[in-house]
Amino acid sequence: MAERIMVTGGAGFIGAHLCAALIKSGYRVLCVDNLSSGNLNNLKHLKNHPDFEFYYQDITTPFNADVKQIYNLACPASPHFYQADPIQTIKTCVQGSMNVLDIARAHGARILQASTSEIYGDPEVHPQQESYRGSVSPIGARACYNEGKRCAETLFFDYQRLYSLDIKLARIFNTYGPGMAINDGRVVSNFIVQALRGANLTIYGDGKQTRSFCYVDDMVEGLILMMNSHPGFAGPVNMGNPEEISIGMLAETIVSLCNSNSRIAYMHLPDDDPKRRCPDIMLASEKLNWCPTTTLIDGLIKTIDYYRSILNANS
Ligand code: UDP
Repeated sequence: MAERIMVTGGAGFIGAHLCAALIKSGYRVLCVDNLSSGNLNNLKHLKNHPDFEFYYQDITTPFNADVKQIYNLACPASPHFYQADPIQTIKTCVQGSMNVLDIARAHGARILQASTSEIYGDPEVHPQQESYRGSVSPIGARACYNEGKRCAETLFFDYQRLYSLDIKLARIFNTYGPGMAINDGRVVSNFIVQALRGANLTIYGDGKQTRSFCYVDDMVEGLILMMNSHPGFAGPVNMGNPEEISIGMLAETIVSLCNSNSRIAYMHLPDDDPKRRCPDIMLASEKLNWCPTTTLIDGLIKTIDYYRSILNANS
C-alpha cells in the first residue's frame, strides 16, 4: 500500500498544489486544514480521489495521524491574513509546530517545516544565504509571523537534537501561480486582478523595493526533493527564484502582459516592509540538484490566464 503523507495547510495555495503533486506521484494524502486562509475550492479536483482524505483540524489543538511523512505548511502566509489575528498566527507557528512534531515523534515520521524568507526580516545582505541570521523586529506588525516562524525553526532543531527526529527545513521565498486567492492581498494576485479589472495598481511605497518570485510548480518540486533528500541533510535550505525584480517593474510587466490600461496608485508602505529580498539557492542546487525553471514571464502568463478565467466565471 502506498505511503500515507500528511500535509497541514493542504487547502492553502502551495499546500493544494503539493497535495495534487503527491497524489500524482502515487502517495496517499491526508490534508489537514482549519480553512482560516485555505479554501476547499483549491481541493475540488482531489475531493473524490480514493487516495485523498481531508481532515478539518486546527493544528494548535493536539491531534493524531498515522503517517510516514509530514509537510507542515499550516499558517496564513499573506501579511494581510497573518496580521488579522496575530496571536493565533504565533500560536499556529509555535504550538501548532509542537503538535505536529509530536505526531512525527510518535510515528517515527519525517517532517518538513515550511519556513520562510521572512525569518531574514529586512535583510542587510544580498542575496540571502542560509547562514545569514536576519534582521527582524521582535515588536513590529510582521513579528507574529517572522518571529513565530523563527521559533518554529528552533523547535524543529531542538526536536532533532533531543529526540533525533528526522527533520527538514525549507525557507520559502515569494511564490505565485494559479490558485492563489483573489483576496489574498499579496502583490502578484493584487496586481493581476487590478490590471484585468482596469483598476489602479496599488504600489506600496515608491515601488523600488524588490522581491524574487518563484512559480508554484517549481516550489512544489523543490519541497518534495527536500523531503526526500539524504537523511543527513536537514537544512535549512532556501527555496525561491533568484531572479530579483522591483515592485514597480513587476507592475509595469503585469500591465503590459494583461494589455491593460490600468495606471499606478502609490500608497503607504507598510511598516517593516523588507526593502530587498533575493534567495541564494546554491545550497539547494548542490544538495537537491534543484533550481526553478519557469521564467517570471511564463509564470505570469499562466497566472493571468487563471485569474482571467476566475473573473470571467464570476461576472
Ligand atoms: N505590495 C504592493 N502592492 C500590493 C501588495 C503588495 O506594492 O498591492 C508590495 C509590498 O509592500 C511588498 C511587496 O509588494 O513590498 C511584496 O508584498 P507581498 O505582500 O506580496 O509579500 P511579502 O514579500 O511582503 O510578504
